[in-house]
Amino acid sequence: MNDIAIDWHARAALQGHDGRAFIGGRRVAARDGGTFDCTSPLNGRVLTQVARCQAADVDLAVQAARAAFEDGRWARQSPAARKRVLQRFAEGILGAGDELALTETLDMGKPIRHSLGVDVPATARCIAWYAEAVDKVYGEIAPTGPDAVALITREPVGVVAAIVPWNYPMIMSAWKLGPALAAGNSVVLKPSEKSPLSALRLAELAMEAGLPEGVFNVVPGHGTEAGEALALHMDVDALGFTGSTRVGRRMLEYAGRSNLKRVFNELGGKSAFVVFPDSDDLPRAARTVAASVFFNQGESCNAPTRVLVHESVAAEFTAEVVRQAPSFQPGDPLDTATEMGAIVDRSQLETVLSYVQAGEDEGARLLAGGHAARVDSGGCFVEPTVFDGVENHMRIAREEIFGPVLGVIRFNTERDAIAIANDSPYGLQASVWTSHIDRAHRVARALRAGTVHVNQYDEDDITVPFGGVKQSGNGRDKSLHAFDKYTDLKTTWFRIEGDAAGNPTG
Ligand code: NAD
Repeated sequence: MNDIAIDWHARAALQGHDGRAFIGGRRVAARDGGTFDCTSPLNGRVLTQVARCQAADVDLAVQAARAAFEDGRWARQSPAARKRVLQRFAEGILGAGDELALTETLDMGKPIRHSLGVDVPATARCIAWYAEAVDKVYGEIAPTGPDAVALITREPVGVVAAIVPWNYPMIMSAWKLGPALAAGNSVVLKPSEKSPLSALRLAELAMEAGLPEGVFNVVPGHGTEAGEALALHMDVDALGFTGSTRVGRRMLEYAGRSNLKRVFNELGGKSAFVVFPDSDDLPRAARTVAASVFFNQGESCNAPTRVLVHESVAAEFTAEVVRQAPSFQPGDPLDTATEMGAIVDRSQLETVLSYVQAGEDEGARLLAGGHAARVDSGGCFVEPTVFDGVENHMRIAREEIFGPVLGVIRFNTERDAIAIANDSPYGLQASVWTSHIDRAHRVARALRAGTVHVNQYDEDDITVPFGGVKQSGNGRDKSLHAFDKYTDLKTTWFRIEGDAAGNPTG
């Protein structure tokens, strides 16, 4: 179990994949029999056929979720009972870790060392953490007058739709599933058509752990088909969306056109990494930014792709970033030494390369990378890419590339740095590097982002909220705050008879 030393190529040749949907506790084909190819970005080969769910399939899944919610088979179990099931689910994820990790790598291209070392444990930890949390969350009693008691309790919202992207397929699913299921909701999950397989397997593992049928359904398919039908569905109470800002806009429209379901958007980013000359460890800053941007092939919403460096240290800092780049040269994702894997598919590879071209056309200086790599493999790989001389109005500074491309923007004053960092439609994360405590606080306060890192970028934990401001979205995944999305506050009033001062009457 979870053994990095496995011969992953041999294992990949043996492992089968089931692409059928998961509705009402069973694997099912799409009602019209439709499928789509699930293609591996490692070599362009088809892994399996996946059910291409349409509105009719989504409707069945929502009906199954609604029936399960209304009869209370999950929602009315005690929190301690739900905890036990979800703990077993988390253990099941770890137990199937090798299989899940391999599926994730074959389906979306990330290195096996990360699927196994990051994605599987983070998914299990998320589910286990919400399992542990749910029987420790108390309601409130309001400080009303003596003749009344007002209880404020948290109720599950009902049927939760989760629509997630392809960059961390299992982790993004778990960030929705953990709090939504722990709170007693039923869930219909729509994974990305680019990475549908691991979510389907998660549903089976949840059932094996004892989750009642109908509580967790998975409808693979295209965004404009299954995704749209789910977001428009009149019987979905809440929609947790993670994906692009472009599609996040549509989620709000869908809610407006249907039943005003509550929408929580976790969207794109163009995070700023601000390096001041008084930073006492420039080499560490350079290593950190390279590792953060090139991790997961640059396909991370919070990647700090706008690197703002003070003019006086820009040459030294940029040279160090360029020195780091070759250690992220893409390799075979099934080789356990590989640190950077394949871009999710050919169209995303072409998008990344078109941004490299746009950067050059707009006058930025390409210092490293910029080309497709491992072309003979038939897969989708791109070199770690570094631009200098980037200006904040250029497309590579304004638009999310979602590939291993970073751009250095030079600044002269602290005021300039803050203005440039905040001059973005996005506000997901930011980082400030300085040894000056006042500056660290000043700049951290001034940066408009959901999370600001000081002298680091890699800290992350299920205990802290994750989400953005501005067009990076409005929701918060992770931490106890995620329960706010999947629960309603309910007030129950009781009148207490007594005299005017609330004293006993007899
Ligand atoms: P995407 O917006 O293209 O797709 C996300 C999901 O929405 C997929 O399941 C897709 O099938 C579905 N979808 C697409 N069009 C739809 C439509 N018209 N109606 C309904 N559903 C639709 O995003 P992506 O390319 O899969 O993922 C990358 C994006 O996700 C990036 O912008 C990244 O920053 C963002 N992201 C954000 C976070 C965060 O927490 N803020 C985390 C990970 C990824």
